[in-house]
Amino acid sequence: MSLTVKVLLGVVLGICLGLVINLSGVNAEGSWINIYLVDGLFLIIGKLFINALKMLVVPLVFFSLICGVCGIGNIDTLGRVGGKAFLLYLMTTAVAIAVAISISVAVGLGEGMTLLSEATFSAKATPPLSEVLINIVPSNPVQAMANGDMLPLIFFTILLGISMLMIGEKAAPFIRAADIANEIMMKMVMMVMAVAPYAVFVLISRSIAELGLDLLSQLAGYVLVLVGALLIHLFVTLMVVLKVFSGLNPLVFLHKMRGAQLFAFSTASSNATIPVTLRAVTQRLGVDNSVASFTVPFGATINMDGTAIMQGVATVFIANLYGVELGMAGYLTVIMMSVLASIGTAGVPGVGLIMLSMVFTQVGLPVEGIGLILGVDRLMDMIRTAVNVSGDAVVSVIVAKSEDSLDVVLYQDIHAGAVDTSSLHIETKQKGPA
Ligand code: ASP
Repeated sequence: MSLTVKVLLGVVLGICLGLVINLSGVNAEGSWINIYLVDGLFLIIGKLFINALKMLVVPLVFFSLICGVCGIGNIDTLGRVGGKAFLLYLMTTAVAIAVAISISVAVGLGEGMTLLSEATFSAKATPPLSEVLINIVPSNPVQAMANGDMLPLIFFTILLGISMLMIGEKAAPFIRAADIANEIMMKMVMMVMAVAPYAVFVLISRSIAELGLDLLSQLAGYVLVLVGALLIHLFVTLMVVLKVFSGLNPLVFLHKMRGAQLFAFSTASSNATIPVTLRAVTQRLGVDNSVASFTVPFGATINMDGTAIMQGVATVFIANLYGVELGMAGYLTVIMMSVLASIGTAGVPGVGLIMLSMVFTQVGLPVEGIGLILGVDRLMDMIRTAVNVSGDAVVSVIVAKSEDSLDVVLYQDIHAGAVDTSSLHIETKQKGPA
């Protein structure tokens, strides 16, 4: 059985167990199941796994980006790759939210509905754009690494790579060391991936067990439109963009991205999924590390198509519920704000709601309205994160293809780069002759 199939099995069994726990009511606060299983064992194993993934992100991005920059070897090309990726990220996000708003308006989502929810939502402050821009240059790179701040980390590492290129031959041992370190980190990614089926089972069980399933039916309209818009973006918009800009077969892409999508779904974090996305994009889809090492972490931070779709659908839903007429200008503001908000916020669980509060404030919608959709947001977060990482991978492939940095034969080979956990063993040292 391939690892992806095992992870998929983990997801399906996790959903089943989660549903049993949720629907049977054994997960009540203070119950044995709640204390020792859902908030005990499941919580610990799930957190350990997410920590293990996060543990890999900073060193992996650091070393692979050094290799990437030195691999490109040319500052003009570097700028071109960055520019293309940035434009494509903005464009796909804007299209995503425009489609989401159009669908929601067309079906009149939330019109004539009344919803009561006890849940309250207090928004955390989002950093203003000026602060995001200022923080791209870290005053302390070690601190940026310690905090896992992607944009400053990317900036520092690119500058480091460029400086190595400038030094030339003298820096060669350092570049070679980074290359070896990158390979070592990739091996660690495989080790963490090998335990994924079990961890994913636990993560999903816990999420579903804690989900407000009764809310799901109350919010059926919102959930259906949102999931529909997410699927349309993943299977239609992104695949058309991939086909038009690269000419490659979208079915191969979807097949090879399944693993990374399942990781994103289980962790609800594009950031924590970076190691898995990077592996899928380079070793399964054939994107050269010189492009992927930059586009993947960059995308995880600034490109959130799924999150933008949620914002579009939620805005129309809540505006209609509260009877607020947003109009064309209002919706354009929503599109602009969502795109800008996605640049400054990292891909971590639940950040979409914080971005949504920023959008609501801007267009004058009541921020408390977000409380209405809070109960189903975890599940929606899981789905939209899978869409987010798919968008990152599509753009990586397109940019690589346009730069002649894509191994088309590898892309087309359906088995290429599949995780082989049997390679996870240590060669026993051969004793030399006495
Ligand atoms: N969890 C999402 C991500 O990491 C962001 C969000 O929509 O909340 O990509």
